[in-house]
Amino acid sequence: METLSTCCYCGVGCGLVIESEGDRITGVRGDPAHPANHGKLCSKGASLHLTARNEMRVLHPELRTARHEARRRVSWDEALDAAADKFADVIRTHGPDAVGFYISGQLLTEDYYVFNKLVKGLIGSNNLDTNSRLCMSSAVAGYKATLGADAPPGCYEDIDHAGSLFIAGSNMAYAHPILFRRIEAMAAEGMPAGYSFVPQPNEVASAVLSKCTWAVLALTCHVELFTQAHYRQSIDPDTGLSELWKDVFLFHWKEESQHAILDELEWRRENARLTPEQRDQAVSDLIDLVGAVDGILQVQAAADVDYFLRVCGRTLDGAQARQLSDTMLKAYRWQYIGSGVQDERFQKILGGMVTDAQMKRIGAALSQILA
Ligand code: SF4
Repeated sequence: METLSTCCYCGVGCGLVIESEGDRITGVRGDPAHPANHGKLCSKGASLHLTARNEMRVLHPELRTARHEARRRVSWDEALDAAADKFADVIRTHGPDAVGFYISGQLLTEDYYVFNKLVKGLIGSNNLDTNSRLCMSSAVAGYKATLGADAPPGCYEDIDHAGSLFIAGSNMAYAHPILFRRIEAMAAEGMPAGYSFVPQPNEVASAVLSKCTWAVLALTCHVELFTQAHYRQSIDPDTGLSELWKDVFLFHWKEESQHAILDELEWRRENARLTPEQRDQAVSDLIDLVGAVDGILQVQAAADVDYFLRVCGRTLDGAQARQLSDTMLKAYRWQYIGSGVQDERFQKILGGMVTDAQMKRIGAALSQILA
């Protein structure tokens, strides 16, 4: 059986076809007729069926009356009566403003309507908010300050027709990959035909997620730190850039610095959990990951050189083409690997976690790439 639905992970809202046999979900695929994704799914959406397994879900109401108690299975009537009694007790004793509802960003409009009726109409409290609104509050402040209105832009098709796009403080390629495919297509339209983006995003995501958490956090922290390094080294000192342009990147830099702090904290927390043997394996995973990133850079650099040679309008001799290839790969490697791993902060964090022998292993792997 096939059922049409929507991916519940992010706000892009990709359409899904859910495949099932009896009460078992056997697979999902993108809905080719859905206007948000036209059949595409990112790795999160494409693996949704793996999370929808009965044994991983709460199938019945459960209740405990004290934190230290084990939960026991109860009927829906008992569970709802317990929740209603608790709320009624608090409201009776302290008034309606003593309760608040923070509800999911994944509800449908009708669900929001019912919750608003319940909280504002019946209980008489104004304390109702949703993740969807809080998520958007900083964006709304940004819209108001820059565009004068707090409405998000119209629809996805606007991207297809845009002449230019301005993205600030967003990591769309990772956070909303299917929407980003539209931007790639829109950008490609203005370029001479034939450009190809070689790495397949889902395969890259699968390769990264096959490694341990410590290695993925190390790579993520490294990415956050190299964006910091790029601002410090190339934008901040450049006196030829427009002040407004620099200002935009300054704010991006500030935002990314928060991510870098959070990633460092996460990475340190994960590190504290590992045994020495697990950390040694994690170092191997990190070396594999950096090798995989380098593999991507090599194929993309080769494809970009090939594209450039076809569209640049002149013929380069063998030595010039080789120099172009070498320079392109060196630049990509510096941008996506070297500038991060050589960052002082990254060195300090990593150096505080691994042994000298492990640091040497990492250094040996990097020396092949950054030679
Ligand atoms: S981009 Fe990925 S996570 Fe977001 S809705 Fe689409 S499939 Fe789901």
